Amino acid sequence: MRPSQRRTRMTPPFIPRRPRWRNLVLLAIVLVPLLWPLEQLATRYYTNELLEQNRQTLDLYVANLLGSLRRYEVLPRILGDLPALREALYAADEPRARDSANRLLKRLRHETGADVIYLMEPGGDTLAASNWDDADSFVGRNFAFRPYFRQALAGRLGRFFGLGTTSGKRGYYFASAVRDGNRIIGVVVVKIDLDHTEMLWGNTPAQLLVTDHYGVVILTSKPEWRFRATRAMDAEEREQLAFDQPYPTRETKDLTLDLTAWLIQSRELKETGWTVRILAPTTQVERPVRTVVAIGATVLVALLLWVGLLMQRRRHFVDRIAMEAKARQDLEQRVQARTQDLQALNERLKDEVLEREHAQQELVRAQDELLQAGKLSALGTMSASISHELNQPLAAIRSYADNARVLLDHQRNEDARANLQLISELTGRMASIIAHLRAFARRDRHAPERVALQPAIDDALALLAKRRQAMGVELIRDLPDATLWVQAGETRLRQVLSNLLANALDALAERPLPRRIRLSASQHEEGVTLSLHDNGPGFSAEALGRAREPFFTTKTSAQGLGLGLAICDTLIRALGGELSLGNHPDGGALVSLTLRWADQGRAFPNEDYLQ
Ligand code: ADP
Repeated sequence: MRPSQRRTRMTPPFIPRRPRWRNLVLLAIVLVPLLWPLEQLATRYYTNELLEQNRQTLDLYVANLLGSLRRYEVLPRILGDLPALREALYAADEPRARDSANRLLKRLRHETGADVIYLMEPGGDTLAASNWDDADSFVGRNFAFRPYFRQALAGRLGRFFGLGTTSGKRGYYFASAVRDGNRIIGVVVVKIDLDHTEMLWGNTPAQLLVTDHYGVVILTSKPEWRFRATRAMDAEEREQLAFDQPYPTRETKDLTLDLTAWLIQSRELKETGWTVRILAPTTQVERPVRTVVAIGATVLVALLLWVGLLMQRRRHFVDRIAMEAKARQDLEQRVQARTQDLQALNERLKDEVLEREHAQQELVRAQDELLQAGKLSALGTMSASISHELNQPLAAIRSYADNARVLLDHQRNEDARANLQLISELTGRMASIIAHLRAFARRDRHAPERVALQPAIDDALALLAKRRQAMGVELIRDLPDATLWVQAGETRLRQVLSNLLANALDALAERPLPRRIRLSASQHEEGVTLSLHDNGPGFSAEALGRAREPFFTTKTSAQGLGLGLAICDTLIRALGGELSLGNHPDGGALVSLTLRWADQGRAFPNEDYLQ
């Protein structure tokens, strides 16, 4: 498979999932209901806290109230034993006895802290009282209708809550019978002021509510609740109330409490039949609960914001990764496409190189064919002159041979030998013509090789050195020291150079001294041009036009065949070089041989043709 056809499958890059806002909303929907149990927990906690706190307050108040009452509970019975009081009961008509009783009661009231202490005779009239000297003195007044009096007469400890009939103040009454043996001779009553127990209640949000056995509020921290009924009364109770008149009004209004607005705790006081209640407003719980829920909601919102922020950052991160992955994928695709293009181009280039090489080979072959065809056509055109050139010596040989036979017949051996010598020379000339024609017609298949120019020149000069020196020809060798490497054939180049030098010597032969040959080289981009300048007669006008034609010569038949320049020109063109003929402006012939530079790195095989 060709590489351009290969398909590399790109695995898609891993991109983490982008977090969705919907999940945040779901999280909020899941978390928000958690505020409800939080509220419940906080409500329970703060309710318990408040209840515990109020329970302690209630216990304290109840203990205080009971303490106040119990302090006076036994006082009437003890006072009933006092002689001064008994004296007053025995001698009720004695003003002195009553007076001393009055004074005693006043002193006792002062010492015990009671509101009023008074002594009644069994008929209900008040004989002596601690407030005997006040404007609203009890002395002389009848309280037989009061329940405590009735209870005391019945032999029990009299107890009663009610407003003072003269003072209008709330009080609690304790009454006890004074006995003489089994006979009741009087009743001692101690009244306690309860107003101050209300005062004890501070200015707190929690409210106090004390109800008596009728369910009527007798003590409270809220004045508007005072003497209101917390429950409905039956007819008997209402009748009893109308008789006892413990409250300022006969008809008590109802007290309706919003039970959701209050947290109520209560204690029963068995000995008085009272119920003490403490009412804490539920707002006391609601406020901190609201704060807790608000904090919880704030924490929740902060949490959601934080999660939202994280999600936002994560989304940005994922977006960036996706963008980078996309860019990388695009780049990979572009690189892949480009690689495929390059591979296709490479394949095309390879094909083209192959085609070129093939065409080159074809060209070389065609050139070879052409050259050969040219040579053959030249031979064709040459055939007339060849036959003429060869027929001449042949005719001469036949003539010399005939003459030699005649001379031998006449015993003229010397003349016959001279004729044979001439025949031998003529055959030598014919052999030379044929050798040159062979060289010309040979198909030369050798490619140009890398040849050093100067050594080839030196070899050609060495071949002709003897003749040159004999002729006294001066050689001016104007060549660079560095070896000039050219495309040529070792033998072919030497053959060409020898030919050109021989021509120069031939030309100089007709000249008087000084005779000179100048060799120079000029280097240029394509290659090197070797110039041979002699100071002979130079090319004649005809010779300049025809010198490359085979068998053109201006020399005698003994001196030249007219094949030298024709062969040189063919060889040099086959090497890609050029041979140009001309005359120097200063006189003499100027023959220039241009050869291409050889590739430095290439090794060339040895040449083995033109033996
Ligand atoms: P040949 O040397 O056998 O005559 P060439 O082909 O070598 O054949 O030369 C052809 C002719 O070119 C010569 O006969 C001569 O007239 C002329 N020629 C060649 N070289 C020179 C030269 N250096 N000076 C003058 N004429 C020359």
